[in-house]
Amino acid sequence: MPNVGKSTLFNALTKAGIAAENYPFCTIEPNVGIVEVPDPRLAQLAAIVNPEKIQSAIVEFVDIAGLVAGASTGEGLGNKFLAHIRETDATVNVVRCFEDDNVIHVAGKVDPISDIEVIQTELCLADLTAVEKALHRVTKLARSGDKESIKLVAILEKCQVALNDTKPVRTIDFSKEELPLLKQFFLITAKPAMFVANVAEDGFENNPFLDRLKAYAAEQKAPVVAICAKMEAEMADMEEEDKKMFLAEIGQDEPGLNRLIVAAYKLLGLQTYFTAGVKEVRAWTIHVGDTGPQSAGVIHTDFEKGYIRAQTIAFDDYIAHQGEQGAKDAGKMRSEGKEYVVKDGDVMNFLFSS
Ligand code: GDP
Repeated sequence: MPNVGKSTLFNALTKAGIAAENYPFCTIEPNVGIVEVPDPRLAQLAAIVNPEKIQSAIVEFVDIAGLVAGASTGEGLGNKFLAHIRETDATVNVVRCFEDDNVIHVAGKVDPISDIEVIQTELCLADLTAVEKALHRVTKLARSGDKESIKLVAILEKCQVALNDTKPVRTIDFSKEELPLLKQFFLITAKPAMFVANVAEDGFENNPFLDRLKAYAAEQKAPVVAICAKMEAEMADMEEEDKKMFLAEIGQDEPGLNRLIVAAYKLLGLQTYFTAGVKEVRAWTIHVGDTGPQSAGVIHTDFEKGYIRAQTIAFDDYIAHQGEQGAKDAGKMRSEGKEYVVKDGDVMNFLFSS
């Protein structure tokens, strides 16, 4: 919704972010903010290895112009908005949970649930249109006995029922077999979603708006991060020292943005493994469940093809034994083959043939 603090929060994120030029694979657009994923484990590894460089994992946030009621029928930014949101991997819905008479609320009063429902209705309607189109196409094939199409019809009909009831597709319990089939329809409400509650400086506790939002989000199994966008924006302009003092004053040990970034990373189903060399200590991003070869592939596609095995040390072992040699001597370095499912925090060396 307009005036909930999206731009304020996005600007704070961008200021805390990093120069996109260094990331050739990232989108360089004014509405894209690239931020490092805060991870204290990097500093712990660096303290042992003393690398020339430390490289964090990163996440891209895209600022998508506000949605208004009627977008699904092309009103306002309408279709353009929906096209942008379709390209993302997950959505963050910023919700106003602060009162301020100086900031106009488009619906006349602060009501996070009703705001969410306006947005959700539009997204559900857009998905419903897509689902009905697909149903029309697939039903014909199903009638002629095509097995795949019969399965698709069943999936689409479940979506149709939920969407008609303005329930997002992600709230439906699909079977393991159905989930991969759903992907081809690019439904917006099937994407993982989270809420950011934009609260007043003193609105983190005893805030009925926030309490209601938390209860609502829990029903949809969506995480909530409470943040004061105004405070984050002020902090983004401060020098490191001042920022630390400011955080101490408000009794926090890190900016709220950090919680947002970490929550987004998790929401995307992402996790981190490390490489730790004297040139560089680096966090690499993989999906939860990725195997050794898939994980090597994020460094270089050749690594995936030529993967032989990975020398692997669990993060805690690496720290406890003060590095690779120590862990190796203690028998904590494992040799993992192609089937190995990489764990969050693994410190890895890949052996591959070229
Ligand atoms: P957007 O339309 O969602 O992008 O909202 P903006 O970020 O432009 O914010 C709209 C207005 O609300 C601006 O005047 C902001 O200064 C104000 N605002 C944003 N966040 C907060 C907040 O946490 N508290 C208060 N009191 N005002 C805020």
